[in-house]
Amino acid sequence: MVEKASYYGGTTARSGGWLWIPNTHLATAYGHHELPDQALTYIRNQAGAGFDETRVRAFLANGPKAVEFFMSKTAVQFDMPLTFPDYHAEAPGAAQGGRSMVTRPYDARELGPLLKTLGPVLPELTVFGVTIGSGKEIVHFMRVTRSLASAWYVAKRLTRHFMEVMKYGRGMTLTNGNALAARLAKSAADLSIPVLLSSPASRLLHDGERVTGAVIERNGQRVSVKARQGVVLASGGFPHNNERLKDTYPHVKAGHGHFSPTPKTNVGDGVRMAEEVGGVFDKSLSNAAAWTPMSLVPRKDGTIGIMPHFIDRAKPGVIAVSLDGRRFANEANSYHDLVQAMIAASCSKPETACWLIADHAAIRRYGLGYVKPFPLPLGPHLRNGYLKRGRTIAELAQQIGVDPATLATTIRQYNDNAQYGRDPEFGRGSKAYNRYQGDALHTPNPCVAPLATGPFYALKLVPGDLGSFMGLRTNEHAQVVSADGAAIAGLYAAGNDAASIMGGEYSGAGITLGPGLTFGYIVGNHIADHIEASPRKPAAAPARKPAGEPVAMH
Ligand SMILES: Cc1cc2nc3c(=O)[nH]c(=O)nc-3n(C[C@H](O)[C@H](O)[C@H](O)COP(=O)(O)OP(=O)(O)OC[C@H]3O[C@@H](n4cnc5c(N)ncnc54)[C@H](O)[C@@H]3O)c2cc1C
Repeated sequence: MVEKASYYGGTTARSGGWLWIPNTHLATAYGHHELPDQALTYIRNQAGAGFDETRVRAFLANGPKAVEFFMSKTAVQFDMPLTFPDYHAEAPGAAQGGRSMVTRPYDARELGPLLKTLGPVLPELTVFGVTIGSGKEIVHFMRVTRSLASAWYVAKRLTRHFMEVMKYGRGMTLTNGNALAARLAKSAADLSIPVLLSSPASRLLHDGERVTGAVIERNGQRVSVKARQGVVLASGGFPHNNERLKDTYPHVKAGHGHFSPTPKTNVGDGVRMAEEVGGVFDKSLSNAAAWTPMSLVPRKDGTIGIMPHFIDRAKPGVIAVSLDGRRFANEANSYHDLVQAMIAASCSKPETACWLIADHAAIRRYGLGYVKPFPLPLGPHLRNGYLKRGRTIAELAQQIGVDPATLATTIRQYNDNAQYGRDPEFGRGSKAYNRYQGDALHTPNPCVAPLATGPFYALKLVPGDLGSFMGLRTNEHAQVVSADGAAIAGLYAAGNDAASIMGGEYSGAGITLGPGLTFGYIVGNHIADHIEASPRKPAAAPARKPAGEPVAMH
């Protein structure tokens, strides 16, 4: 394995660590059972014109096997701690739970020296340096002032963290995607698989019939690496390739900004290298990337953090308005859906953005973006401009440059219904996913409360992504295919280098990592199945002998 960055883990190490794979043994153990072809129906419905039945069937058939394989043979372990509904749980074939699983937390001490080069988490997603587990743990943190059990849990978790910091200089309980990257690295190390850091692949080698290896850059030298069985592209898509963004992101095409918390190394190298040997970049998907609303957090060192907004939008007492002060969507829908609505509402405006607005009760109870709930202070966020505040709605409107009368009308109309737990305009709380992200302790509607108690607060949301959806066209074996549909021998793509099987839609928690893991497993099996069948050609001499250790890509 070669890695461009000086650390390993990529976007995966920054992620929530959720995987969407229907019909696993974990689901069965938790009592979730699916009808035959139920998940196929769901993906067909979600992917629309982008539905590729052959690849989807391969994913559904191999996903459960991949999970069993990893859990029985490697350090990679998953849990199904919560009944996480599909993001469009009312659609045909959807499930109310049982398809999304999360990576089990990992003790960093297991990693030994590999810990030093594990990719970092997003600092904006930590509290006192703790990366809060995105399963049950976050629920405890959200209820810390309202439930004795949660307060006890949080006290224990923070105490453990601070003791680890005192003893080891850092927290040792890895969670979410950081645990996934760590578990994968440990599994590779256990099998003596070398992972070469700071070693970008720059081009593929091709003998006219098949891909035979790749050129990597290492210690200032170009090294040709022979791959006897194949090369697997998994360079994380193109979220930082400006040319492709201009070509495929509607708001970037319009000259508006875009903000991605993915690693800057992910510039579409895999897609480019495959195109050079006949691969096809599939732009037919409905959305180019997994959209997520972000806020821009001023950091103490002068840099700007990019904070994804996953759950705050669904909480009671929070709404979003466009730059002209009007609501434009059900804010409790998925992040991908909300950004699509934001893009549509901003097309005639100077920027793609909206304002997330909360009253005092809501921000103190749930926090807002990077602003943490009571008892953590609001002052620093107000002083650095991240958060805007007004004693009245009119004052807040002035702070954020929105017409006061329009904002006042928007909030009055919302409040008129919200006092009864209703949102006739956009239906907050009408969907299982809305309610899952709302506050289950709030009645009658876990997503709806009037914005009644001043002062009022706002922060700006801008469009961002969690990774690419468009990518290389591949077949059911994860082989990269050329324009005529024929497989390019010796070349595979997995993760975000391959076009998403969801057709450009975000239909459940883990729909990038689940297929990523599964197609990685498919690649491994496809290569293993063909080792015996294909006579081995004598290895060609490398263009330049690798400095130091022997290197092979299989
Ligand atoms: C905050 C956040 C939360 C998320 N939560 C989830 C979630 O819970 N579930 C989910 O399914 N998805 C989630 N996602 C999305 C998910 O993390 C990504 O879609 C996924 O990690 C992409 O995996 P990948 O292997 O394709 O790329 P990456 O994990 O980004 O790995 C690609 C690696 O390739 C390296 N590379 C790039 N170019 C080269 C080159 N030329 N040579 C060698 N190496 C190269 C990069 O440095 C990088 O390390 C989340 C994303 C974010 C940002």
